Amino acid sequence: MDKPLILITGGSQGIGAATALLAAQKGYNICFSYHSQEQLAQELAVRLESLGAKTHFVRADVSVEADVLNLFSETDKHFGRLDALINNAGILRQKLVRDIEVKELEKLFGINVIGSFICAREAIKRMAFSQGGKGGAIVNISSIASRMGSPFEYVDYAATKGAIDSFTLGLAKEVIGEGIRVNAVRPGIIATDLHAKGGEPGRIERLKSAVPMQRAGTAEEVAQAVLWLLSDDSSYTTGHLLDVGGGR
Ligand code: NAP
Repeated sequence: MDKPLILITGGSQGIGAATALLAAQKGYNICFSYHSQEQLAQELAVRLESLGAKTHFVRADVSVEADVLNLFSETDKHFGRLDALINNAGILRQKLVRDIEVKELEKLFGINVIGSFICAREAIKRMAFSQGGKGGAIVNISSIASRMGSPFEYVDYAATKGAIDSFTLGLAKEVIGEGIRVNAVRPGIIATDLHAKGGEPGRIERLKSAVPMQRAGTAEEVAQAVLWLLSDDSSYTTGHLLDVGGGR
């Protein structure tokens, strides 16, 4: 029998890549998207294949509907099944609310929120019992920023993750009868390039003493939570927001 197939958005690095590697170790095949880092995507695919996972990767901007439709049709073509979606792709950059421009807000919400909605819609079409699917699981990558608000850093980003929390709670109930479980993982400060890209390479050093565990988390620690929520070990869990924040 074929291995189950996980689709991960933004798999080229950080939490997405760590999740892909753990999923491959746990016996899944992987389709993942990247946005700009083709070289990293190629390197990751080689590692996933060496772990025994049939792998395919596709360039996609998740905020562009045509890209998402292509990502899912590539998945159909290469694997012919879909068992789980991880809505992981995300961006941020630091800015005070008083300085935010509408174009920046549209881009941020387009990637972090609308992209997750479009991907979930396409996944439901393939997984829902009423559409001939076999059920499945969706994990949205939110953030503890959704409950902290992230003042003086990125209130806009925190608001996108607040939207993802509501999306998770509502969608979980909407598709519960379709055999699809929907949960979110809310990471705290995780050691990835996201902070440097957002404008503060030293953010972890500055903030780690504010974390009860006194350190940043790793992408691998987040991946463990994601994989649990995807697995049958969490078969009675849906509509849950799981914090992976070192006690923060
Ligand atoms: P990362 O290392 O910067 O990775 C971000 C991923 O998103 C990359 O694979 C990137 O692709 C992809 N991406 C960027 N723009 C995209 C677009 N328009 N369309 C599709 N994909 C796009 O960040 P990360 O830390 O792993 O973050 C992953 C998720 O965790 C995000 O949703 C983030 O908000 C969330 N999170 C992170 C932290 C943290 O402390 N790191 C905390 C809480 C939540 P390319 O590399 O190919 O461009």
